[in-house]
Amino acid sequence: MLDDIVDNSQLIDGFGRQVNYLRLSVTDRCDLRCTYCMSEKMTFLPKTELLSFEELERLCSVFISRGVKHLRISGGEPLTRKDILSLFQKMKTHLESGALQELTLTTNATQLEKYAEELFECGVRRINVSLDTLDQENFQKITRRDKLSAVLRGIEIALRAGLKIKINTVALRHKNISELDKMVLWAHSQGMDMSLIEAMPMGAIDEDRVDQYIPLFEVKEMLTKTMTFEDCTYRTSGPSRYVTVKETGGRLGFISPLSHNFCESCNRVRITCTGQLYTCLGNDGMIDLRSPLREDPSNKKLICAIDQALLKKPRGHDFDISRRGQAPSVNRHMSVTGG
Ligand code: SAM
Ligand code: SF4
Repeated sequence: MLDDIVDNSQLIDGFGRQVNYLRLSVTDRCDLRCTYCMSEKMTFLPKTELLSFEELERLCSVFISRGVKHLRISGGEPLTRKDILSLFQKMKTHLESGALQELTLTTNATQLEKYAEELFECGVRRINVSLDTLDQENFQKITRRDKLSAVLRGIEIALRAGLKIKINTVALRHKNISELDKMVLWAHSQGMDMSLIEAMPMGAIDEDRVDQYIPLFEVKEMLTKTMTFEDCTYRTSGPSRYVTVKETGGRLGFISPLSHNFCESCNRVRITCTGQLYTCLGNDGMIDLRSPLREDPSNKKLICAIDQALLKKPRGHDFDISRRGQAPSVNRHMSVTGG
């Protein structure tokens, strides 16, 4: 497929930022209903709208040929898409050729026990697992489903399979902040890094995000009552800023899109399961890649559409959760473009 690709120049946006990171959402569906992410009653896309695995592979290959080094498969819940491993198997060839440096996954881990070993065989080495509480009742309240034990089993099996795990936790003012110190100790005791994330105003949900959002500088202040933070230069290709927790020796990251915007160093774009390219998480602007992909097997139209989209990549987002009853800053849910 790479033979068809005609352009090997790097992806540079209108502000001179180089894009080397692609997040691909392979489904908008999920087996959980986290209250900050979705409403209980969601209308998902008809499965017939989705790009096939062959089309997803073609898209990824074009981006890799244009300098994408990090590919994260996300969703919705990516492990709920039937035959998802076939995409990982295809992407393994780009890891083997050295064109791709890293193939990763963001998952809620409900099905991880089934897939962990094969993911490792496909070249996946690091994954992010989203988990907001270790308490079964609270898990049910936050996710509206009773699947904590499957998640914990999945984590255990994935660690045994050799996958490095980072736990991603959304800090929720009234739901989990009193547990966060325990979660940090638990994650570090299992050899896992952890990142805290601010709730973002994306997509309509059943609660008011004013009740959910807490700026991470407040959380940091709370945590420093029981643990000591030391400066840490560790960075991944993501937006987390890390400290080392002196008491555990483990790393704790902070992803603060609202209280500390990181757009100036943004290196990523996102594609939905129907082939819409979003160049900014906090903006509704997108370009359709499905039509050029289907119309032109040579990939020329696709490459042209990607270049046009890149030039229009916004300088940054404008997230705001300051007023009760406020409409979300962007209409789509995080599950459409993946986190
Ligand atoms: N289902 C998978 C999971 O939960 O890991 C992958 C998709 S999920 C949309 C990716 C990440 O986005 C998760 O870590 C989730 O907590 C986060 N997320 C979803 N909606 C969010 C929101 N409105 N604000 C902040 N983070 C959100
Ligand atoms: Fe599903 Fe992930 Fe959204 Fe939770 S955060 S509802 S697991 S897509």
